[in-house]
Amino acid sequence: MDDCVFCKIIEGEILGEVFMENQDFLAIRDINPKAPQHLLVIPREHVASLEGTEGWPDEKVAEMFRFVRMVADKAGIRDSGYRVLSNVGEDAGQVVFHLHVHVVGGAGLGDFA
Ligand code: 5GP
Ligand code: ZN
Repeated sequence: MDDCVFCKIIEGEILGEVFMENQDFLAIRDINPKAPQHLLVIPREHVASLEGTEGWPDEKVAEMFRFVRMVADKAGIRDSGYRVLSNVGEDAGQVVFHLHVHVVGGAGLGDFA
């Protein structure tokens, strides 16, 4: 999609370090990390948020969460623990309107977000 920063990363127009990828998803490091490990899991297909996944087959939704666990494993935070979070819409403060799941860890994260 035009003017979507994550589509540009997916299409290779913006060079960013791809941390992990498969046919449907990729993971990149957040440009402004909030913890020692802060990855973003992004579907290759442009949907604005989790709300855009309504038409997805159940298997693709499940695959996204499997991919999150694989990313946490590769980031070395599977045993210590990590937070999985996705901002949806205005009240959540969503900034980039291409679905992404934050995977955050590597230190104690406190109570919330
Ligand atoms: P959210 O939409 O979940 O509130 O926040 C978007 C997240 O994407 C932020 O944590 C921000 O640091 C990250 N971000 C925004 N633009 C870029 C970018 O161009 N590259 C990367 N790697 N992360 C980005
Ligand atoms: Zn996009």
